[in-house]
Amino acid sequence: MVKITDISATHIKSGLFSGIGAIQITMAGCNLQCDGFGQSNPSDPKTYILPYQTVDVSGIKSIRDFPDVQKGCVSSHSWASRFKHLVKEWDATHIATDVMALLPNRSWFNQVSGNFFDLVFTGGEPMLQQKGMIDIMTELDFMLYDPVLPMRVQIETNGTKKLDPEFKKFLGELRAQGVGVYFNIAPKLFHSSGETPEYSWFPDVIREYCKTGSSASVTIVAHDSTMFWKELEDNVLQLQEMGIVVDIFVTPHHSATNTADIRTKAFNLGYHFLEKQ
Ligand code: SF4
Repeated sequence: MVKITDISATHIKSGLFSGIGAIQITMAGCNLQCDGFGQSNPSDPKTYILPYQTVDVSGIKSIRDFPDVQKGCVSSHSWASRFKHLVKEWDATHIATDVMALLPNRSWFNQVSGNFFDLVFTGGEPMLQQKGMIDIMTELDFMLYDPVLPMRVQIETNGTKKLDPEFKKFLGELRAQGVGVYFNIAPKLFHSSGETPEYSWFPDVIREYCKTGSSASVTIVAHDSTMFWKELEDNVLQLQEMGIVVDIFVTPHHSATNTADIRTKAFNLGYHFLEKQ
């Protein structure tokens, strides 16, 4: 069984492949909380305001009813215990059937545009359910549905969980069949998320994802403070010292009002920039 909170047809909003049409599976559960996002001082929990802890849950029947919270994790609906009624524990066949039903003509390839749709695992933290992702993709059986490969699988992850050997082998087999595997890695920094590095910063995991996927990128949510930019510089230096070559994007939190400042700072420091979501 796999724990999810949603399956949707959408255009991808983050990472190297922003704008690509996709079916997105939102996996339930996360090992972080990121309560510092959007706070005036992300490194001081005493100052936090957290709407997800107080919002009236009675009218929230799906994650699409979740209000636009300006502080804390925007995906708290997929892991906070107050929203456990939104979690569906389905078998992989059920999930795969719903995925195929969302695709025009039940095909990853679109005859009109000539484009492929991607399959995206997001969350929560999808890497907590690696066996579940194998089961879903096995059930989808890309080759059977779509001899016109390649297509691409994307995994949006906080970059904290090592690859299980079984999942690593499975991804290798996918790649051998011509399916692209893209890791959209979004590690959390203390001075923007409030998560301490011992729980949120694992460069060895980032390196493993970069080596296992056919492509990868790192996206960091920014907080425009001296301490944040210094932490980012130190972490990026660590990646470089480990020989990790990866595109690094900076993006403002979706509640940020100083987007232009962050964009300018990112440009001057040589980081890529993604619009806030
Ligand atoms: S890692 Fe992502 S889903 Fe998990 S708490 Fe942080 S922002 Fe939310």
